[in-house]
Amino acid sequence: MSATKQILALNRFEADNAAGLDPELAERIGRRQATFGASSVLFYEQPIEMVRGEGVFLYDVHGTRYLDVYNNVPSVGHCHPRVVEAIARQAAALNTNTRYLVRIVETYAERLLATFPAPLSNLVMTCTGSESNDLALRIAESVTNARGFIVTRSAYHGNTAAVTHISPSSFKSQKLAPHVRAVPAPDPLEAPKGDIATLFAAQIKAAIDDLRASGHGFAGFIADTIFSSDGIFADPPGFLQKAAAVVRAEGGLFIADEVQPGFGRTGGGLWGFSRHAIVPDIVTLGKPMGNGFPMGGVITRPDYLAAFCAETGYFNTFGGNPVAAAAGLAVLDVIADENLIANAAQTGALLKDGLTALKSDFPQIGDIRGAGLFIGLDFTTPDATPDPATASAVINAMKQHGILIGAAGLYGHTLKIRPPLCFAPNNAEFFLETLRGILKAMG
Ligand code: PMP
Repeated sequence: MSATKQILALNRFEADNAAGLDPELAERIGRRQATFGASSVLFYEQPIEMVRGEGVFLYDVHGTRYLDVYNNVPSVGHCHPRVVEAIARQAAALNTNTRYLVRIVETYAERLLATFPAPLSNLVMTCTGSESNDLALRIAESVTNARGFIVTRSAYHGNTAAVTHISPSSFKSQKLAPHVRAVPAPDPLEAPKGDIATLFAAQIKAAIDDLRASGHGFAGFIADTIFSSDGIFADPPGFLQKAAAVVRAEGGLFIADEVQPGFGRTGGGLWGFSRHAIVPDIVTLGKPMGNGFPMGGVITRPDYLAAFCAETGYFNTFGGNPVAAAAGLAVLDVIADENLIANAAQTGALLKDGLTALKSDFPQIGDIRGAGLFIGLDFTTPDATPDPATASAVINAMKQHGILIGAAGLYGHTLKIRPPLCFAPNNAEFFLETLRGILKAMG
């Protein structure tokens, strides 16, 4: 069986491989490591110095253009002029802490909340997905008076102390905390007769029983509703309903982490949870919310937020600042005005069809999964073993051909195809042709 991979190890530059690097690049990397030390993480066997972004493209210091098939932060496109203009205009007018009435902030909150189903009608603004999930855990603990959480085995939910406990894909020597249980990713290939909904719900139920038996109680289940770091599991739509029903029946909260699927990526509405026709108890937002401006949010029921605020209350100096609100409003406008959800569905389908066609010519391609502009493609050996070495070789070869892409999954053998939502059909065609050429050359 293949070794499991920690999330930060995926497509990572290793200092041991620095021999033979261009001296100028080696010098730049040296400066980075001297300042950021052991925490420095760079992509690629040969890291890239980026200077500019525009739409679906990034440009490096030498003027080389890369098609970005990795990034879900600038999800409406790198440096989108409307978002840039909104940020600049608001920054020139007012930016302050969040304890004043500022119209653009209330306007944003109303616009955003209008996209959520009842009873999700309160918003707390934060600066990152990690802060959002940290607060979600605290709200769930207050509401349930319990501490036990369930996550998927390769989940990533962020970087605070509490959130790292529910992010097993971050662990190196760290082990699962006593109050956390991890269930396998919802992979239909692992389920008898493909009924992943029943299997996944049963695994969650067993984990709840185990948490109870160990005295932690059950506070909630948190899921990235497209299971990005687990390897991207989107189908069949609705499979999370049984899981949500078990969580509710057992008195826990269903927390939907929309940092990855949110803001239109799955091509079926703004939110990944709607693909499953469920209404979560708490929704957490992050990265694509500000298209690069750091902002996040927690959406929940007023009674749940009140239960938490009765205990502690919450203040976040930068969460919900006026510039963030301006960025957030511009993002919502661009998604609507440029029909980006429909584009995610259509261009995503084109990509998936093209990848499926490639699979018949290249046996190293295993399962292909996803929704909208978030697709996972597994590389496997002839005996169906995960093949992270091929994934890594493809990722580095794609870079040589001007395409940026990453890996995902427990073993790092899944190509994570996640471009900005303005990815056009001709970008998808270029991607598919390049992948075909690379796989052909690899023999
Ligand atoms: N949740 C998910 C699903 C994520 O992918 C991430 C970041 N990759 C986070 C939460 C944390 O977001 P941030 O890095 O903004 O804190």
